[in-house]
Amino acid sequence: MREGVEERYRALRSAIDEEVRREGRDPAGVTLVGVGKRQPPEFVAQAIEAGLTDLGESYLQEARRKFPLLPAVRKHFIGHIQSNKAKAIAATFDVVQSVDRAEAGIALGRAAQELGATLPVLLQLNITPSDRFGCRPDEADQLAETLRGQASLRLEGVMAMGPAGADSDAISRAFELAAKTLARIGGSTLSIGMSGDWREALRAGSTMVRIGEGLFGPRTDGRHT
Ligand SMILES: *Cc1c(COP(=O)(O)O)cnc(C)c1O
Repeated sequence: MREGVEERYRALRSAIDEEVRREGRDPAGVTLVGVGKRQPPEFVAQAIEAGLTDLGESYLQEARRKFPLLPAVRKHFIGHIQSNKAKAIAATFDVVQSVDRAEAGIALGRAAQELGATLPVLLQLNITPSDRFGCRPDEADQLAETLRGQASLRLEGVMAMGPAGADSDAISRAFELAAKTLARIGGSTLSIGMSGDWREALRAGSTMVRIGEGLFGPRTDGRHT
């Protein structure tokens, strides 16, 4: 058990609320997604006990091992989607944030239909060369149209990663591109901001920040797929 996850959760949530209020927005409009990848289930459980409502995971197998050990929480898939895992992803998660190509969206749509469910999804945008995944902003309209054509998917907005190791201005410019793309394709969820760049993200209009190490501490080295 790590000392202080509950305190860290409360301190982080108040820092976010304060930043959001400073911009004249309502803190209730910003969801904090704790990112539990390569974090022990005990830490994640402590954050949920302290009030964390949303959990993001990047690796399907790790998530499936961890979820049975946790209290109820909304589960977001934020990792790379392999199309042959679409069915397991749709069955395991409540929201899929990382739909970055038509093939993955179609596979998820089919999987959700077989489950008799409507799956909320976000379109993952690539706004920086340091991100390996994501749809280019100039191809987002076409992907959004494909996703809206899947009866069992509900496209709610976009997700993106900021540039790794960039200065604050470059981060802000990338996030503004994500906000502009969301305004163009439509949707209400702007999932941007991680441990190192959530303040810039909130200033660009983020409605959902995804925070791992800033909440749970350093990740363990173990590889999970
Ligand atoms: C790992 C990860 C995060 C959280 O990163 P931290 O730097 O630990 O906050 C957020 N989003 C995605 C897509 C991730 O893979």
